[in-house]
Amino acid sequence: MTFLQSEGQLPLSSDRNGAISKPDISVVVPIYNEVESIPRLIEAIATSLQPAGLAYEIVCVDDGSSDGSSDLLRQLASSRTDLQAVILRRNYGQTAAMSAGFNHARGSIIVTMDGDLQNDPTDIPMLVGKLEEGYDLVSGWRKHRQDDALTRLLPSKLANMLIGSVTGVKLHDYGCSLKSYRAELVHDLNLYGELHRFLPALAFIEGARITEVPVRHHARQFGKSKYGLGRTFRVLMDLSTIAFMKKFLTKPMHVFGLFGLVSLALGTLLGIYLTILKLGFGQAIGDRPLLILAVVLFITGVQLFSFGLLAELLMRTYHESQNRPIYRVREVVGAEETTAKEA
Ligand code: UDP
Ligand code: MG
Repeated sequence: MTFLQSEGQLPLSSDRNGAISKPDISVVVPIYNEVESIPRLIEAIATSLQPAGLAYEIVCVDDGSSDGSSDLLRQLASSRTDLQAVILRRNYGQTAAMSAGFNHARGSIIVTMDGDLQNDPTDIPMLVGKLEEGYDLVSGWRKHRQDDALTRLLPSKLANMLIGSVTGVKLHDYGCSLKSYRAELVHDLNLYGELHRFLPALAFIEGARITEVPVRHHARQFGKSKYGLGRTFRVLMDLSTIAFMKKFLTKPMHVFGLFGLVSLALGTLLGIYLTILKLGFGQAIGDRPLLILAVVLFITGVQLFSFGLLAELLMRTYHESQNRPIYRVREVVGAEETTAKEA
């Protein structure tokens, strides 16, 4: 896939009442037990996009709600032309819900937001407009975030700093769901676990141009948050995954092999030293802690090294099984034929 077809003007054709053949913008909203918010949310998205003359669709993904959200979405989707409801079989989590939304979105621009009215749909035209400046991803920044200071704002501030320094993408607010993307970028991203928070970092690994803009944020009016403090720890684990992927995805041997060799070399040297003591000087080495260290280092070294080789094989399977190139083409200039092949 290439960025070529969306170079230059984005196809913001005007289709006054948002009736969709193939929309320009898909607004993807994961929904888990947000029944009170849904009608207002959909109305608000429609009112912010219709006057701007944007051809849009709303893709609401019901993530196994048990409060009647699914029935409401079903009903609304059969009466509105601008709404697509994707009902998942059970609750899979926000990342999976977003991924389902991405797979059903047909627009060349994708906007994501939460279904609890905390994000403000009136910001959407601005986020989309920003893409036209040449960005592939525009991330919202909840500059005046309306959440609890101690349990939400503080952990989030620390997490943002940490994520920024590990991933190299400097954003103020990774956790903000309100973002706009070029669709080609989204379709290049594979989401697992709870990695939706790291979409900018994953996009950065794919070579995307990223920026952020301040957006509005409101306190939750209905229902309650689906997350607690435990999220902070999960974010830390996910961060290690991302850090590894960013640096070593295509060359795992460089990290495992290096540590393996160092450990193996130290173990061997200690072993030689102990052998000399034993054979050359007749000293007893059987009860020396150094012997244990030498053996542990040796075995660890061999294991890390072979682990690196296995990781190399896995990585190759990962890329080759899905025809996933190890590079991303932004554009190809001239030579039409080549362009078609690269896509
Ligand atoms: N959500 C979801 N599946 C889940 C948890 C959350 O689809 O398992 C949705 C939820 O309905 C909301 C969005 O993800 O639209 C963000 O969740 P929430 O508002 O609880 O997160 P917070 O704003 O508190 O960080
Ligand atoms: Mg929320």
